Amino acid sequence: MGSLRKAVDLKCKDCSYDPLEPGRWRQQVEACTVTDCALWPLRPRSAAKRPEKAPSTGVDRENDPEVMS
Ligand code: SF4
Repeated sequence: MGSLRKAVDLKCKDCSYDPLEPGRWRQQVEACTVTDCALWPLRPRSAAKRPEKAPSTGVDRENDPEVMS
């Protein structure tokens, strides 16, 4: 069994790639517009177009009463 990353890549490629259309498979998948697909945020994209990591929530874990016990 491969990685989850590879599984998503293969699923998107199988779903969207048409060798008769312009662009490589990653370009075609990157252009997918099915935003309500559960895999859409995870679809393979070029490194330049990947979102930055989520910013910190700013939660002060040392003083968070739910974390303290
Ligand atoms: S994100 Fe797009 S290409 Fe990937 S599985 Fe969903 S619909 Fe298909």
